[in-house]
This record gives sequence, structure tokens and C-alpha cells, in this order.
Amino acid sequence: MIMEKYNHKKIEKKWQEKWEKEGLYKTQEDEKKEKFYVLDMFPYPSGAGLHVGHPKGYIATDIFARMKTMQGFNVLHPMGWDAFGLPAENYALKNKVHPKVSTDENIATFKSQLGKLGFSYDWDREINTTDPKFYKWTQWIFLELFKKGLAYESHEPINWCPSCKTGLANEDLEDGKCERCGSKIEQKPMRQWVLKITDYADRMLEDLDKLPDWDDSIREQQRNWIGRSEGAHVYFEIKPEINNYKKIYLGSENKSKLERLKHVFKYINPDIEIEQVPEVINVSETADNGLDNSKQKVLVYKGKYEYPVVSCDASVFFEGEDFDPTHVKRSALNGEDESKFTQEEIAEKVKDFYISIAKKNGGQKEFYYEDAWSILFPDGEIKQFTYHREYIMTDKLQGKLDIYFPMRSLYLVKATGKNIFEKTEEEWQQEFRGQIDGFNDFFGKEKLKVFTTRPDTLFGATFMVIAPEHSLIKSYESKITNYSEVQDYIKKALNKSDLERTDLNKNKTGVELKGLNAINPVNGKKIPVFVADYVLIGYGTGAIMAVPGHDERDWEFAKKYDLKIVEVVTGGDVLGKAYSGNGTAVNSDFLNGLEVDGAKTKMIKYLEKERIGKKAVNYKLKDWVFSRQRYWGEPIPLIHCENCGVVVVPEKDLPVELPEVEHYEPTGTGESPLAGIKDWVNTTCPSCGEGAKRETNTMPQWAGSSWYYLRFIDPDNDMALVDKEKDKYWSPVDFYVGGAEHATRHLIYARFWHKFLFDIGAVNYDEPFKRLQHVGIILAEDGRKMSKRWGNVINPDEIVDKYGADSMRVYEMFMGPFSQSTVWNTNGLVGARKFLEKIVKLSLSVTVKEDNQETVSLFHKTIKKVGEDIEDFKLNTAVSSMMILVNKIMEQKEKSISKNNFELLLKILSPFTPHLSEELWEELGNKDSIFKTKWPEYDVKLAKDETVEFVVQINGKLRDRLELSVDVNEEVAKEKALELEKIKTWTEGKEIVKIIFVPGKLINIVIK
Ligand SMILES: [Zn+2]
Ligand SMILES: [Zn+2]
Repeated sequence: MIMEKYNHKKIEKKWQEKWEKEGLYKTQEDEKKEKFYVLDMFPYPSGAGLHVGHPKGYIATDIFARMKTMQGFNVLHPMGWDAFGLPAENYALKNKVHPKVSTDENIATFKSQLGKLGFSYDWDREINTTDPKFYKWTQWIFLELFKKGLAYESHEPINWCPSCKTGLANEDLEDGKCERCGSKIEQKPMRQWVLKITDYADRMLEDLDKLPDWDDSIREQQRNWIGRSEGAHVYFEIKPEINNYKKIYLGSENKSKLERLKHVFKYINPDIEIEQVPEVINVSETADNGLDNSKQKVLVYKGKYEYPVVSCDASVFFEGEDFDPTHVKRSALNGEDESKFTQEEIAEKVKDFYISIAKKNGGQKEFYYEDAWSILFPDGEIKQFTYHREYIMTDKLQGKLDIYFPMRSLYLVKATGKNIFEKTEEEWQQEFRGQIDGFNDFFGKEKLKVFTTRPDTLFGATFMVIAPEHSLIKSYESKITNYSEVQDYIKKALNKSDLERTDLNKNKTGVELKGLNAINPVNGKKIPVFVADYVLIGYGTGAIMAVPGHDERDWEFAKKYDLKIVEVVTGGDVLGKAYSGNGTAVNSDFLNGLEVDGAKTKMIKYLEKERIGKKAVNYKLKDWVFSRQRYWGEPIPLIHCENCGVVVVPEKDLPVELPEVEHYEPTGTGESPLAGIKDWVNTTCPSCGEGAKRETNTMPQWAGSSWYYLRFIDPDNDMALVDKEKDKYWSPVDFYVGGAEHATRHLIYARFWHKFLFDIGAVNYDEPFKRLQHVGIILAEDGRKMSKRWGNVINPDEIVDKYGADSMRVYEMFMGPFSQSTVWNTNGLVGARKFLEKIVKLSLSVTVKEDNQETVSLFHKTIKKVGEDIEDFKLNTAVSSMMILVNKIMEQKEKSISKNNFELLLKILSPFTPHLSEELWEELGNKDSIFKTKWPEYDVKLAKDETVEFVVQINGKLRDRLELSVDVNEEVAKEKALELEKIKTWTEGKEIVKIIFVPGKLINIVIK
């Protein structure tokens, strides 16, 4: 009979239709009511549809939202779709359908599945990140970031997934592997858009203190992810043993060039002397380009000197002028023999030649000057480089004659209009930058930059270690004498995961870079350089100064490779073990006698004064690699113009829509599939109107989710991403529920964007989520994650069909503490169904009689407990206290309940079982929805618990006492016992074997 009466299919369908027809869940701003914004992390509508684990969080927030509504709050409880990104695209590729088509289908499936569970979403506020009306604002935010200098182009090597064929951010990785597909990540240099999230690192850290209602564990994860440490950057000079020249010869008598070269080397390596070759050999210029001419000029010195010989040849290029650019002098002399003239006369002729060109062009002419340098090394090798300098020449004399700089010194002004004789040192450097860089490649002192949190121990740095990926290795290929051994080591190291590499227990390995030394900048000592895999390229600068006396890993390494260990802080015995504690500086020259903190400060001052380092803060957090070389994402709204550079798409032209295409497979070349769509890529520059090209990278899947919660507040606004008044009313999100894996991904990104939006005045508050709760996953019956691969997926549709949505809702809340993972058990589900059947049975025994005092008191206790438990998200104990109540009533001999109390029961049950509660509520003769009634209040006196003192034991020994309600439920009692501070100190790090519970008496925790 009960089964007949409780026809869940009929009841659930009836109420879902009725709620929709009546618009029960529509939400409006209402200044008279206090608001409450309850939000789930919105799902990716994957092709597989929902399994029973997915709705756990949604059920919980639905219960919460329904109670808050009944408590008189104006509740916002929306749902939408995070539909861009790799999962959707990979699914579409695999199933050979366009991502848009498959995404729409998947959304329809998800929506229908959610609909069957009876959620109180206001579907008028549904959003979809792939809807151009939505991503217009995602693009708008990107442009604002770009305008504020927080989006920049970078060519640094980034994480590359060879299988997904796209670049990825650090947040997309799990132990060095692609979080999506598990492939091993490579480092690939490519053009990328990067967001300067590190600019917000300090604020994101500090403001964690403003979030007391977040789980401590999540705040701690964010702290670690941002990973701030204070210290210093220190520069160590690298000295190769070979090719370490003391002198360089200029193969020419040209005094001015000699002066210039000396000046250039001031910036490169002041230890190198610049001299004229002892015997100049003149070579006539026969080639028609500067590089060949300068080469001929150095070649004549081959085998003569033990120092490199350099030579320069210049070419001058005037647009539209027809003369040999390498032989200006010859043109100026008009074929006459050079030897007939003095240098001054030649200079006059050259001057006249240029003036005539300037005059011909109205007194002003643009041109550029190309210097071509050749370097002959003692072993006969020749290296070459060229660089440009651009000028405007006028026919006005600018200063006195200088034959070796005829153009610069005579009449030639840079576009700035400045007289060249008034050049500052900075401008000089600017002009000769190309030359400085060119020589720097061959003769520069390479500096190895390290980050250290202990600059006070610098005198104890006895070797350096660099990561296998460090660029220094490649750039010193010719100077490292054991290069092939080094390469073998690197190859092996790169096959290991970061976790394997940094495991503290692992045997440290490394290879010395023979032929290279570093110079400790504070004592000038030569120290060896190693490559070792325990240093990661992603942390700091990818290089460390090793202080074996005071760092455990460096100590182990030093012992293994027999390297020097120097004590620089007292307090330990560094020959036996590294000492990282406090103490007094020793063996440290000017630091001696100072305590660690004082020594740090003094050392940083010294480094800054000597320009060999500076104070620095390091973050583990890296700037956010923001572009993806894939199709299914928001186009980045930028245009590349040859004249104007990178130009933003004007706001009126947003959104830049994804073009409809047939092929959207990744190219794998590092270019987005969009690059192949010519009529989309080619556009006009909004600034100059010339032809230009669109940016073809797309945004990562995290873009839309970084701000979507704002759009629910104002989903149809076409003038702003959110109306500021509406934002003021609804924001921040009061309660946010989702997976713990987002602690260092979505929740980092969203906080960053939100703070930025706050800074530009787009929103009213600087933190987006007030209270945060993470949801524990539901494992399959076999204890594994539900996955197609294991064939253990349970579809909620089947459960709803067989047992009803209300049973599933109750069961999933009853399974265990909300944030813990639990195993699905169909028997448990049957138990939940039986509980609901009991309620249906009880509905047949509603009487006009008053209940006895005991029942009344139990009612008040239960109302109190259910309300408090929902508020605290202890939904399992809320359910169990209602079960206890119903069982008590059924145990009584009357087995009946007063109408008044039954209504109260339906009210506190209704958030959990909305369909059944509405049905029984209606049967009692009520016309309006139960959700329009008020949440019941309890009588404080009647709800008061009788308590008893429990003894809490560890392995049978009394360790603490605990005051609990007489009829406390076993689960709660155990939980409370484990929360005791004294007990925590006993159980920390121990395995809890079992907990013995004796009602009203004791709790004994057995640990191992
Ligand atoms: Zn991948
Ligand atoms: Zn332009």
C-alpha cells in the first residue's frame, strides 16, 4: 500500500512541472530582503553526462538554498556551463562533430539530468561561457588587463603538452604531467600571451586573512602555491677557462674605432684590453658588402697573434640613391685616387657628398648605417655580426669635423633633433646597443643569477648548481670540456618527474661543468658549477648558490662530490650535518659577529652598493600562461599591425567571434588552427586602417570561469559585465561549494581577476567568495573513481527512475561527512528510500490529538539540530537526527503524530526531499508551496539537551573528557572526540585503527 501511495515518478514529475509553471525559483533584487548567494562551481558539460557523484555538491547547496529561502532570505541560486576548453574539444574531435554541436548536446543532457533531481535553480539566469554574449565580457576583461600592462607577450619556453598540442600554465600540470591527458610535459619556446598574476601575489596572500570562512586547508594550499619567500638575487660571474682572453686587437689604424671599441667593452668586460694590432696590414675593399670586406680585413692576421683580431666595415643605405653603399668614400671622391688627399680633405669631400644628397631631398634625408664586424679567433675561427643605426641627415652642420664618424658628427641629427655632441652616456649606450650585444655574445662576462633566502651565508657558497634545463649550458657548449657527459646526464634528468627529482630521500646526482667556473662575488673565489636535477628550472632562477654548511641538500651533494664545506653561521657542527638554525656569522668578513637577520640586511645593502645583487622576493607562483593553440576557446581580441604593432579590438567590435570552420584539429606546430582561416585572420587595423592580422591564439579554459559568478547577477546586461548596483546587492558569493582540486587553479585565477576588476572599478568588493566548502568525491562501489574506463559508472537517471530523486538526495547527504570521499553503496540507498516510506506511512496516522511531552521536546531538539547542521554543512547528521525522530515516533504505541508536528517535520525535511514534502504538505490541505512558508522556530527550553560526560581514551587510557548530549549519535560523538585538542596531539601522524563507542559512557580511540 505504501509503495502504491509513494509513486515517486508521478509525484516528482508533478512538482517539477508545477514549480516551473509557477516560477517558484525566479529571483529578483529586493532591497527590503537580505540577500544570500549560494553557488556551485559550474560544470563542464562533458560528453559522458553526469554520474551519481557529480550532484553531491549541487544537492547540498540546494538544501542550503531552500532553507535560506524559508528563513526569509532573498536567495540567488543559479547554474550554468563552463563549456570552452580542452575536454569539450577533445570529445568533439574524437566523435567527429563540431565542438559547438557536441557542446550544445551535452548541455541539453546535463540540464535534463539536473532537472530530474529537482533543483531550485533560476534557469532564467543560465549562462554558457561559449555564448558570444558571455565571452564578449571575457574578452573585455582581457583587454582591460592588456591596457593596464598586465597582459604581455613572451617567448620564454613554456609547458607544452605533445598530445593536446598546446601550451599550458603551471596550474594545468599534475606532477609534471598534463592534468588533462597525463602526457609528459615538454618545455617549448613559443610566442605566448601571459598574464602578470605575480603582481597580485602579495595581495592574494595577505587577503587570505579576510577569508575566515574558507577551509584552513584550502587557504594553506593557496599560500604554498603562491610560495612567497624573501631574500636576494645575487649575480655570480661565470669564467670559462678556455677562450678567456685578456686582450683583443683591432686590425686597423682607425683611432676613432679604437676609442669606440674601448667604450663598448666597458659595458661588456672591462678586464679585456683593446689595442691596435702591433702591425697593421692594409687591405683594399673589393667586396660589395660590409661583412665580406671586414672578413678580408681580419683574415690577413690569421695565425699571427694569440688574441682575437676584430675589424669593422660600414655600409650606408639611402633609399632611392644610387651608389655603392660600401664605398661611400669612393663615390665621394668621384673616382679620384685617395692617396692624393689628406684625411681632412677626404672628410671634406665626404661631407660635401652627403650635403648634396640632403639638399636634393629638401634639406633632410633618412638613411641607415650598417656596421659589419668580423672577429678572427686565434684558432682561425671567424664570427660575424652586423647592426643597424638609423638617422636623419640634414644639410645643417652640427659640430666639428670628425672623419671617422662623418655622418654622425657633421650634419646628422637623430629624429630627436638632439646635437650628437650633447649625448648622455645613456643615449650613447642606446645608440651602440647592437654593438654591445654583438660583442657580448663572444666576450661578455656571463652572470649567473641566483635567488637565495639566505644572503647572509654567501661567504659559505662553495659551488653552484644549475637545473638541467638552464640556458647557460647550451650557450657555453664550446667551453664545457665534458659536454657530451653533461648532455647524457641532462637527457636522463628530463625523463624524471619534478617529484622524483626533488624527493629529499633520493640519492643526489649531478655532473660538474668542466671548463667553467663561477666567481663568488663577495670573496672573489673560483668555485665549480654543477648541473644537478634536484634544482628545478621553474623555481627561482633555475640556479642556486650551494651553501653546504647550512643547507641539507647542498650538504649531501658536497659530501658525495667531495666539495668544500665552510661554516659561516655558528651553532652546529657543519662537518657532521648541515646547520640551518640561528647563530652568529663567522668566516664572513664584514658580517662576522652579526646574528642571521642582521647579517642578511647588511649583506643585501652590500650587494646593492657593489651592484652584484639586490633585495628580492621570489614566488613559486609564475605568471599565467594565458594562450592556447587550440580552436575551442575565446579568441584573444588583439590585432597585429605592421605599422602600429599590437592593437586592441575596439570595445564596439566585441565580441570577436570564433569563426565557423570545418577543421579545428590542433596543428601541432605551435600555431592555433585559427591561423589557417584566412578570411578571419586578415582584417584591417583599427588604428591606421591598413591590412592587419588577428591574434590566433585562444584563451585557456579557465578564462570564463574566472568571472562567471558575476554574470549570474546580471546575465543579460549588454552595457557592462555586471551592473554595479546589482553587484553591490548580490556580491560577494556568500557560500561557494566545489571540488578541492580547484584550490590552486580556479580559485587562484578567480581571486586575481576579481581583485583586478575591483581595482578598475568594475565591481564593489575585493574578494569574490565569502565562505568556501569543498566536496568529497563519491567513489564507485568497487572503491575506485567512477570512470568509463573501469565500467563502474552509475547514471543518476537510473537511480532516480528506480528509487526517486528524493531518495537519492537523502542518501547522498547521509553517506558521510560532506567533505570526505565515500563509497557508493546501493544498500544505503535502499535505506534512504525506506526512511521516506516511513514518512509516507506516518502521514496516514496524522491525528488531531496532541503529542506527548517527550515527542514535543524531541521535535524542538530536532528542529534546532537540523537547522544548525544545514548551516554548518553537517548534512549527514541532519538526516540522521530526522531518522531518529521518525523512529522514536514509530516506536511509540500510538504510532501517530499530531498534524501540527507533522507539518513541522515536513518543513525541516523539505530541503532534502522537496517533491515528497510538497506532496504530503498539499495532502494536509495546504494551498501554497511549502517553500513559501517560514522555517520553523524552536523553543529554546524544550530544545535543550540533557548531557552526560563521556570519557575519552587513547588505547584504553584516559586522556580527556567530553560533555555530550545523552542520546548523541555515534558519528557525532566520534567526530567531537577527535576534534579535542588533547586528543589531536595523541593522534597526529598516527593511524586510527578503530574507535569504540559506548553510549552515554566512553569513546576509546585505538591508534597505531
Ligand atoms: Zn595533454
Ligand atoms: Zn595599424
